[in-house]
Amino acid sequence: MRNVQPKASHYVGGAYADDTAGAAIDVTYAATGEKVARLHAATPAIVEQALAAAEAARREWAALPGVERGRVLRRAADLLRERNRELSEIETIDTGKPLQETLVADAASAADALEWFGGIAAAVRGEHVQLGSDWAYTIREPLGVCVGIGAWNYPTQIAAWKAAPALACGNTMVFKPSEETPLCALKLAEILTEAGAPAGVFNVVQGRGDVGAALITDPRVAKVSLTGSVPTGRKVYAAAAEGMRHVTMELGGKSPMLVFDDADIDAAVGGAILGNFYSSGQICSNGTRVFVQSGIKEAFLERLTERLQGVVMGDPLDEAVNFGPLVSEAQLQKVLGHIEAGVAEGATLVTGGKRVQRDGWYVEPTVFADVADGMSIAREEIFGPVASVLTFEDEAEGIARANATSFGLAAGVFTADLARAHRVAAAFEAGTCWINTYNLTPVEIGFGGSKQSGIGRENGLGAIEHFSQLKTVYVGMGGVDAPY
Ligand code: NAD
Repeated sequence: MRNVQPKASHYVGGAYADDTAGAAIDVTYAATGEKVARLHAATPAIVEQALAAAEAARREWAALPGVERGRVLRRAADLLRERNRELSEIETIDTGKPLQETLVADAASAADALEWFGGIAAAVRGEHVQLGSDWAYTIREPLGVCVGIGAWNYPTQIAAWKAAPALACGNTMVFKPSEETPLCALKLAEILTEAGAPAGVFNVVQGRGDVGAALITDPRVAKVSLTGSVPTGRKVYAAAAEGMRHVTMELGGKSPMLVFDDADIDAAVGGAILGNFYSSGQICSNGTRVFVQSGIKEAFLERLTERLQGVVMGDPLDEAVNFGPLVSEAQLQKVLGHIEAGVAEGATLVTGGKRVQRDGWYVEPTVFADVADGMSIAREEIFGPVASVLTFEDEAEGIARANATSFGLAAGVFTADLARAHRVAAAFEAGTCWINTYNLTPVEIGFGGSKQSGIGRENGLGAIEHFSQLKTVYVGMGGVDAPY
C-alpha cells in the first residue's frame, strides 16, 4: 500500500503547515482497521492563519479577469486527471471505497467541476438595464472568504464541487474536510497551487465539529457551504445566520424511487443497485425507499437478489472488487443497529443483514421487503448498504407516500409511460429527480435538496448565484429633480 502520510496536516497560504499541539486525527484503512496516517486538528492559531491567508488573498484574486482565474482551474483539472490513479488510491485508502469506483467518480468528478467552472469564470457578468435616458447596470461580485465543510463519503469531489464555483467567482476558501477522511483535500490544495492559484486562495484545515464551528462564526467569513447530515446542517445554518452569512446546505436524505409495472425491470433494478449499494450505500442521494408497484414485486425482488450475486467483496485496492467496507467502526455499528430495528419492526429480510466475518467494516448488501412507511428503516437515513422495498398500487398513492418525508434531496421514477414519467417528476418534492436512471450527477446540472435536505445548489449555473452577489449601479444622465 502506498504511503499516504501527508507532509503536514493543513495547507495554509500556499504551503503545508502543522501544529502538533492539535488533537490527533488518525486515518485508518477501513478494509483492515490499520492506521495509515496521523494528522492533527487545527489549533486556534492554525484556524487564524488560514482565515488570515484567505482574507489577504481575496482582493487580488477577485481583481483578476475571470479568464485568468478560469485558466488556473482548468490547469488544476488537467493535473487531477494526469494523477487520477495516485489520487484515487489515496481516496480509496482514506474512505475504503473500491478503487474501481474512485478511479471514475472522485478525482475525475473534481476535474470535471474545475474544468467546467474554469470555463464559466470568464462568463460571469452582470446586465445592462435601460431606464429612459438613465440606465443601470449590475455587477456580479464575489462574496469574499468562503468556508467549505465536507462529509466523508466523497472527499475529493466535495472539496472540488465547493472550491470550483467559489474560486471561479473570485472568492477564496478555507475548507475543512471530514475528520474521517482528511487526506484528499490536501492534494487538491497542492494541485491548485501548482496550477497557479496564488497563496491563500484555497486553504485546508483539519478538525472535528469544533474547528468547523470556529470557522463559521469568524467575522471575515461571508459564506458557509456544508455537506453533512441534517442535524449538523441545523447547527451550521443557525451559527451562520448570526452573522447574516450566505449558506449552501447539502444535507442527508431518504429518497424514494418509484418503479411502475411497465418499467424495464433490469433498468429499475440497476437503478436500485446504484442507489443503494454503490459506495456501500454511503451516498446522500440514495433511493433507499424503493416503491415497487405491487404486481411486479416478486419479479423485482428476484432480479435484485440475483444481481446482488455479482457483488465482489474484498480489498478495495483490488480493482476487481466492487463492494467495500463502511468508513468506520462507528458507522458499521450504526448500520447494524438500523438492520436490527428493521427485523424487530417486522420487515422481511430478503438478503444480507450481517456483518461480514473478515477484518474491516463490511456489512452485507441488505434488502428488506414488506417494509411499512412507519418503520424506522423507511424513515431514517441509514447511510449504509440497506434497501427497503415497499409496494404501492397506483400513481397517486405512490407519489403521496414518496413525498411523505421531511427529507427532499432526490427521487427517481422508472416507467415506460412518457407522460407519467414527467407528471411524477413534477410532483416529487425533491431537489434532484431522475427518470429511468438513478444517481447520475454530472457537473453541468444543479444538485441539491429541498425541505430538510438543504438549500442552495451545487454544480450547474445555479452554483454561480450561490457564490456571488449582485451589485446594482444606477446611472443618472440628466439633472437631479429634488422637491426643494
Ligand atoms: P456530519 O454532519 O457528521 O459531518 C459533516 C461535517 O460537518 C464534518 O466535516 C464535521 O466535522 C462537520 N461538523 C460537525 N459538527 C459541526 C458543527 N457544529 N459546526 C461545523 N461543522 C461541524 O456528516 P457525515 O457523517 O460526515 O456525512 C454523512 C452525512 O452527510 C449524511 O447525512 C449524508 O447524507 C450527508 N451528505 C450529503 C451530501 C449532499 O450533497 N447533499 C453529500 C454527501 C453526504
